Amino acid sequence: MVFFNVKLFPLLIIPFNSVWSTSSNSISESLLQCPSTHLNHSNSSKEIILTRNSSAYSSVLQSSIQNLRFLNNSTPKPEVIVTPFHESYVQAAVICSKKHGIQIRFRSGGHDYEGLSYVSYDPFIIIDLFNLQTIHIDIENESAWVASAATLGQLCYSIVQNGKVHGFPAGSCPTVGVGGHISGGGFVTIFRKYGLAADNTSQQISMGEELFWAIRGGGGSSFAVSLAWKLRLVPVPPSVTVCKIEKTTEEGATKLFSKWQVIADKLHEDLFLHLVVEVANEASTTDGKTIKVSFDSLFLGPVEKLLLLTQDKFPDLSLDRSNCTEMSWIQSVMHLRRNHDANTSYAQASI
Ligand SMILES: Cc1cc2nc3c(=O)[nH]c(=O)nc-3n(C[C@H](O)[C@H](O)[C@H](O)COP(=O)(O)OP(=O)(O)OC[C@H]3O[C@@H](n4cnc5c(N)ncnc54)[C@H](O)[C@@H]3O)c2cc1C
Repeated sequence: MVFFNVKLFPLLIIPFNSVWSTSSNSISESLLQCPSTHLNHSNSSKEIILTRNSSAYSSVLQSSIQNLRFLNNSTPKPEVIVTPFHESYVQAAVICSKKHGIQIRFRSGGHDYEGLSYVSYDPFIIIDLFNLQTIHIDIENESAWVASAATLGQLCYSIVQNGKVHGFPAGSCPTVGVGGHISGGGFVTIFRKYGLAADNTSQQISMGEELFWAIRGGGGSSFAVSLAWKLRLVPVPPSVTVCKIEKTTEEGATKLFSKWQVIADKLHEDLFLHLVVEVANEASTTDGKTIKVSFDSLFLGPVEKLLLLTQDKFPDLSLDRSNCTEMSWIQSVMHLRRNHDANTSYAQASI
């Protein structure tokens, strides 16, 4: 696989206190000139810098917006969208934006709930990293280089294409971008054993421990833009166990919920036991609603071992083999995602 030759790029600090000092038209003009001035890439700058007149402007802007609230006409739009395919364009766009006092929004996968990667109430540009998606897996050294706009689905797929006994503790939604996910922390079912996605990155260039700490969980775009991440892959068994068991209030859900709150954080680190509380009988209106608690779990090992463990630590749950299925780690990621998507109105908790 091709090695993506960029490193964490901590020097691209976003100017938060910029003053808008240039008209919108001149911003587009300036930026159109800017990368060629800085980098001598004049032939391709028109393809990389999309103004409001560009035919691809709207489709690129809308392509990864996940919160449809921000698709309406009243949402402020960027003056320009920059779509770099090399780190030098990012650098040039930052320098030029800073020079013109323009706000910048960085976008990887576009899953920000509040639209922070593509909305600003001051005039702004978007640097959309979607061309930077390269992934290089190095199984021998249990590591990976991942460009920020690669998705979590692409990352997991690439890992299992290279073997079945490695994984990565990134979230289960396949379209989330690596850039925003790791910048914000990132958690999934194996975090009890391996920590957050951000905990499994390593510093490749000297940037100081404090900045390295800040860019991994301090919130995307707060400190710098990261173009690629060096990740530590984690070991997973060839077969894991997923289980689901549901209890209504009549079946003792309240007691199980209470018990779970006391023991969940003390269970073996190979076991993730998550619960969802929802209404079981939406259609029934006369006699009040019945609450149902669903326990979803992932265990990094065989079903027999899991059953022994739950019989010992949480016997009231009455988990048995019929509630459980053994599968590969990657199948478990997809399985638990489907379960999650199937619950439309609920409250959930993980410890
Ligand atoms: C459907 C869905 C499912 C989710 N599932 C999970 C889950 O299972 N586990 C979990 O932990 N989280 C989950 N999340 C939350 C998700 O991890 C965050 O919203 C994450 O920030 C999205 O990253 P992104 O690159 O897709 O988003 P973007 O909107 O592109 O970016 C999010 C933020 O990070 C900044 N940013 C983006 N790229 C970079 C970069 N390269 N360098 C610096 N800053 C950058 C943006 O400016 C923005 O502030 C989910 C979100 C959604 C919408």
